[in-house]
Parts: sequence; structure tokens; C-alpha cells
Amino acid sequence: MSSPVYRGRFAPSPTGALHFGSLAAAVASYADARSHSGEWLIRIEDVDETRNKAGAEQAILSDLRAFGMSPDQEPVRQSERGHLYQEALDRLIRSGAAYRCTCSRKAISAIARPGCEGFIYPGTCLNTPPPPDATAAWRFKVGGELIRFRDRIAGEVKQNLADEIGDFVIRRIDGYFAYQLAVVVDDQVQGISDVVRGADLLWSTPRQIALQGQLDYPTPRYAHIPLVMGRDGHKLSKRDNAYPVDTADPLSGLLAAWQHLGQEDAPASIGSCEAFWFWAVPHWNINRIPHDRNRRHEQPESL
Ligand code: GLU
Ligand code: ZN
Repeated sequence: MSSPVYRGRFAPSPTGALHFGSLAAAVASYADARSHSGEWLIRIEDVDETRNKAGAEQAILSDLRAFGMSPDQEPVRQSERGHLYQEALDRLIRSGAAYRCTCSRKAISAIARPGCEGFIYPGTCLNTPPPPDATAAWRFKVGGELIRFRDRIAGEVKQNLADEIGDFVIRRIDGYFAYQLAVVVDDQVQGISDVVRGADLLWSTPRQIALQGQLDYPTPRYAHIPLVMGRDGHKLSKRDNAYPVDTADPLSGLLAAWQHLGQEDAPASIGSCEAFWFWAVPHWNINRIPHDRNRRHEQPESL
């Protein structure tokens, strides 16, 4: 079977119930995939087992079904894919792009300068490798070049990883693979052409692109859904997004997510999720997603 031109995914972490922010991401990725006659997959991002909540995976999957979003394949779980992440890590090690690190957070914070996301690792263990038998994390050695990509919503995004992030952890000292490595391997192995997800991950994308480059993976297209203004003009905040969705009335949730995404009003005659999707897929327009131009330059002060 040849792979389709478009394959998207929704990748929830089972850390709690589906909330409004994740519903909006699911609706956007599903509508974008279906409007491209593409496939849509679900991946359970349970790689950090310390954060998983019992029952959350089943609750998310049944909520997505209630909203009328069915995947084209059985969902996969990151917790069952450690061998794939290990293979990628081995390749990075062999090519000299990864190194062991035993530094504690405290030791790093005492000497490092703050970056976009925490401290910029000063390369201590690159210069002085830890003893071979020490339990260690693995870090990815970033290059000095500017990483650029064109986000379908946010537009041109640029980041210099060496200046703004530093060498980042790809396997933690406790043995868990880091999100950045797992997501890159999964998007590649699953043949994802299009990533549509929340803007909280916009500044993870340059790290993912750097890993893809080192592993010779193609870079998917990206679209990051920003926080948008509600119709009443108030800014939807993390707090609003934390409201769990109500699956007793799934159509209202879909309509609210659709509105949050700036899409054309659905006809009032629509009375079921099925009817909604029948109408919504051909009406999806990613360019309508309200996007505050200034917001994409919003970066931590260090930049
Ligand atoms: N698992 C991440 C989350 O729930 C999403 C990761 C992604 O879409 O790349 O926020
Ligand atoms: Zn170190």
C-alpha cells in the first residue's frame, strides 16, 4: 500500500481528562487531515510514566469517539515503543551527536545562564565526560546554525538552539526517553506528513527539526494553534483550557472548539456530531484561525 500524501495525528498525554485546549488541537488536526482526504492517527504519549494517570488513556479515547473523531489505525502507545527510541539514540551516539551527562539541575543552575526553557547547559560533561559506569542522561549536541521553518499558522519561525536552548536531554537519567526524541521518532516511523498541535510546542519544533536533520528524517509540515480570543473578546487562558470537556453534550464542545479556531459558523440545523463533521470537513479553513501576529514573537526575556 502506498502511503497517503497527508497523514496527521493527535498525540495526547494521558495525564488527565481531555480538556478544552486538547479538544481544540484534536478538532484542528482531525479537520485538517480529513479536508486533505488524509489519514488521522492517535498516539498516546505516555513515555513519561511518572506523569500518567490511571484511566486517562481510556477516558481520552472514549471522549474522542464521543466527539465523532475516529482514527484510521489502532492508537499506539509510546510506552511500548522504547526499542524504536533506543535505536535512534544509538544512531545519535554512533554519529557523535549525543553525549552522557551526570549533572544535577542544581549544579547546572549554579553555573549556567537562563535560556528560553530553563538553563542553557554549559557543556560540562561534553568537556569532561563522566566515568563510564556512572548512571547518566544523554544530551543531544546542538549545532550553531539558525533553525528555520514556516509554520502554517505562525508563519516564519527561527531559533538558534545553541544560543537559546543549549544541548538538551534526549534520555533522562531515570531512563525515560525525553518527549523531544520520542516525538521525532514516532512522527517518522508513523509517516506523519503534518503536525497540527498547540502553540505551547512551537518552540519545541526547532529541537525536533535538529533531531530530524541528524537522523536523516524528513521534516513534516507544522501548524501550531495559538491561544485565541473568545468571541466575547476575552483571552482564553490556560485556566479556561483546563476545563474538562463535557461529553454528555459533545456537539456543544465541538461547536465551541470550532469557534475557538475562528471557523465559519455552523448552520443551526446541525444536530449531531456526525452531521457536524459532514458539514465541517469541507468548510475547514486553517487561514481563518485568528492569530495575533505579535504573539508569535512572544518569547522569554532572554531572547
Ligand atoms: N503529548 C503532547 C501534549 O499532550 C503533544 C505532543 C505533540 O503533539 O507533539 O501536549
Ligand atoms: Zn553534565
